[in-house]
Amino acid sequence: MKIESQLAQIGSIKEPVTGAVSFPVYQSTAFRHPQLGQSTGFDYSRTKNPTRSVLEEAAAQLESGDAAFACSSGMAALQTIFAYFSQGDHLIVSLDLYGGTYRLLERVMKRFGVTASYVDTNDIDGMSSLLQENTKAVLIETPTNPLMMITDLERVCNWAKSKGLLTIVDNTLLTPYLQRPIELGADIVVHSATKYLGGHNDVLAGLIVTKGEELSKEMAILHNSIGAVLGPQDSWLLMRGMKTLALRMERHQFNATKISEYLMEHPAIEEVYYPALKHHPGHDVQNRQSSGNTGIFSFRLKDARYVEPILRHIKLIAFAESLGGVESLMTYPAMQTHADIPEEIRKAVGVDDRLLRFSVGIEHVEDLIADLSQALDAAKLEIEEQ
Ligand code: PLP
Repeated sequence: MKIESQLAQIGSIKEPVTGAVSFPVYQSTAFRHPQLGQSTGFDYSRTKNPTRSVLEEAAAQLESGDAAFACSSGMAALQTIFAYFSQGDHLIVSLDLYGGTYRLLERVMKRFGVTASYVDTNDIDGMSSLLQENTKAVLIETPTNPLMMITDLERVCNWAKSKGLLTIVDNTLLTPYLQRPIELGADIVVHSATKYLGGHNDVLAGLIVTKGEELSKEMAILHNSIGAVLGPQDSWLLMRGMKTLALRMERHQFNATKISEYLMEHPAIEEVYYPALKHHPGHDVQNRQSSGNTGIFSFRLKDARYVEPILRHIKLIAFAESLGGVESLMTYPAMQTHADIPEEIRKAVGVDDRLLRFSVGIEHVEDLIADLSQALDAAKLEIEEQ
């Protein structure tokens, strides 16, 4: 079955008693046992809940994995994955990384003896030079947030396998509709399902998808032991959002492509970072390993003085700190999503005070361009009057 059909039908044929097309919310923490030593398959909702199970089965199928685990946020999913590692273990991690993942590794995991080294995950020599005896895994964001750097997943997964390392891919920005890392060799996929999967800026959720029996069994133990699981209401909301993922991603990328082309020509803009643009260094790899582009891109202004007035003048586009929803949001990574990354590392990567990130929604593209255009004009006027 094609992915569009899988998505639209999530949960719709799973309710055997009434035939409800929309799978119900099982708002129960406990489940009655028929007899001593017997179970319906559901005992206690931290371990397994019927609504969450339908979501997890769908996520595993969509990502071509063996099992999936729904968590209370993307960070909860990453924490559960990191708990797979032990004191003394070392990870190789994408250099341009979501700031919260960096904070979790540096502020929390380090105290438990799990360390990380950061590198451009396209640079196999760079990764080889970071290998230690205790290196256990590579964690990749592709495209990276916010600079949209693309990693050749097939190449890196092959390299990781040859070194006995697991590959973990954060697939938040592309979603299984556009890219399926397990098919390219990854062992674990992680999502901030808060973003495109949920899609409506109304549910916080995370997903882990694993490939392989042993890994899946171990992740089930960690998921239940840590307990950062997704509640039944939020599981239902997430499934409701996922049903329209295919349609939304098509519109997101259509709008983002048009707007990135508009910004490329604008005199106030120095650079636009979006893999759909032909000059983007990851354009060819992205076309090979994905069936399309995400709906988020970043752009660098020529003059940092534009940032504040642009964020004040945008009207339809909200100045807000998330991505992947139907509503367009603009973020200032240096002071928001990436504020926890030390300034010297941030600037070396390119997350400086002239960079804005734009999560393009599904509004009409002409309205979005008009809003951006008036904000840029107003900012120009203010700067000239200074
Ligand atoms: N991974 C990526 C790429 C993200 O952008 C985010 C959040 O912005 C996360 C993980 C964390 O997810 P959450 O905010 O759902 O905890």
